[in-house]
Amino acid sequence: MPPLILPSKKLLVLDPCHGGKQPGAVAGNYKESAICRAILSPLVDSILRDRKEFDVQTSFGLLNKPINSTWLPNARRADLSNYTLNVQPIDFLLSIHLNAGDPSAKGMMVCYRTEANLQSADYFYSAAIAYAESAGFDLAGNRDEKLQARPSDLAILKVAPNSLLVEAAFLTNAGDRQLLLLRPDLYADAIKAGIYAVMNSL
Ligand SMILES: [Zn+2]
Repeated sequence: MPPLILPSKKLLVLDPCHGGKQPGAVAGNYKESAICRAILSPLVDSILRDRKEFDVQTSFGLLNKPINSTWLPNARRADLSNYTLNVQPIDFLLSIHLNAGDPSAKGMMVCYRTEANLQSADYFYSAAIAYAESAGFDLAGNRDEKLQARPSDLAILKVAPNSLLVEAAFLTNAGDRQLLLLRPDLYADAIKAGIYAVMNSL
């Protein structure tokens, strides 16, 4: 009789942007890094409450880094890549960011690296927007390019074959910013819907 091998659980890693001395985008007193952490916390709690068949970790938790420490993009990529090679593969990595730009620019965008990731980006975006719509909110905004190819300039997307980066909203848009500050839980739930759409496709 062959030995019984239990399949190991899939691993979802949530990477909050920037941090420490790197605030990311800044608008007035508001920092991308702080707002992304405010989304991350209810997001992780909510996924744990759903008792899914996969494990969920933050990138910082996985590597035992204080959540507000500075962890530069190339070091973060190297540390996480080492983890996937030597400890356990990451099945899906999502890096959570906020956009900045013209004050009129608003809405969610999803960045991907390869053609294979484009499918995941589409699943993620569609599910997140649909969830928000069902809750009475339009997170789609007004960008033409909702799914954006970033083949080489985003180190974090090279960590795992399935990696995406979500720019949840524009910190520089008054409407987006107000909703981010008032309802981080809404963004967490919309992002969760996107994550589940991707995890279900793996
Ligand atoms: Zn960012």
